[in-house]
Amino acid sequence: MSELAQRASKIKPSPTIAMNKRAADMARAGRDVIALSLGEPDFHTPENVKAAGIAAIQRNFTKYTNSEGFGPLKKAVAGKLQRQNGLNFTEDQIVIGSGSKTVFLAAFWTVVDPGREVVIPAPYWVSYPDLVELAGGTPVIVPCGQSTGFKLTPNDLERATTPKTRAVVFNSPNNPSGAVYSEKEIRDLAAVLEKHPQVWVITDELYEHIVYDNTRVVYFAKAASGIADRVITVCGFSKSYVMTGWRLSFAAASRPAIKAIGDILSQIHGAPSSIAQAAAIEALEGDQSFIEKNQIVFKERRDLVVERANRTPGLHALKPPGAFYVYVNCAKWIGRVSASGRRLANDVDVVEALLEEAEIATVPGEVFGLSPFFRISYALEMDRLRQGMDRLEKFARGIQ
Ligand code: PLP
Repeated sequence: MSELAQRASKIKPSPTIAMNKRAADMARAGRDVIALSLGEPDFHTPENVKAAGIAAIQRNFTKYTNSEGFGPLKKAVAGKLQRQNGLNFTEDQIVIGSGSKTVFLAAFWTVVDPGREVVIPAPYWVSYPDLVELAGGTPVIVPCGQSTGFKLTPNDLERATTPKTRAVVFNSPNNPSGAVYSEKEIRDLAAVLEKHPQVWVITDELYEHIVYDNTRVVYFAKAASGIADRVITVCGFSKSYVMTGWRLSFAAASRPAIKAIGDILSQIHGAPSSIAQAAAIEALEGDQSFIEKNQIVFKERRDLVVERANRTPGLHALKPPGAFYVYVNCAKWIGRVSASGRRLANDVDVVEALLEEAEIATVPGEVFGLSPFFRISYALEMDRLRQGMDRLEKFARGIQ
């Protein structure tokens, strides 16, 4: 058989998707697995947004749109950025993508030449390093531990930035830690980057509306106005607007950057789904009450998971201000042995033992670049979540 390109062997499938598939396979085989591994809200897309998608189909809005996105949606995005984020972008500074993954890839292709470095604070969303590598860049992982609330500090950013650095990835609220950066923290990071004019910032604001306790999300481009011309703001409809399956996102940046990203996307996706774009206009401009409703449900679950995790012997969790994950420190379990005799040498072993012995699916810290932790997603209803936390505690009590 002909050989595959080197790049094909370097790219790994998404480990979170792999874990969810494994949990689903076990469930199909008759095992009662509780999936604490889900990366999407368990709510449905808001009714008014669904109706806008259906209406688009019925009026035959089912053809290609402009490759960089349907004009009225770009206008709605510009309005949202102005209203909610205090950012002024014209329509030619906005591009619509088919999910944010493709936009990140296009953004890395746009600013990172082969061999150049991209700083990625860890824990990070699993796809960044692979997408950077796919674009020919070299990921530079900077561990950001529990002591800084899993956030990148200006000192660590300074140390990681070299003449080879072309970009920094910035994700707030963060998957998997739920960390949210304050305006001042962003300004302090931007002050470091002012000394490195070759460095772009690629932001990931996907979870902006999933925050608790009056936490305010400030877009990087807004807080770091001094370097705003080097910021590529990426946001998507998947999480905050409960539209994972619609595959829609957007980027906003300087005209040359957006033109390049749009040109790349035109070769990758042709155009985003017309139907999803029509629905997204409603998501941005229609009734927003679903945001608060979802926050209330998520907050109750977050409080349960954090409280139960901290009551579980050997575990420690911070209370995350955003997203729908808790990143649990399991350092005290490492080196010990589970009730069934499994040696827990690292967080991958922990997650494997939790799946096989406690029938709960979680995701190991190793895939997010910071160990020893595991990620619990609370995108499932309270009863199952409670059962899952009971199983976790029982597992902990069996550890020798
Ligand atoms: N960014 C973060 C931080 C995520 O958690 C995810 C999905 O899990 C994505 C991006 C990808 O989202 P999309 O559905 O827009 O491709």
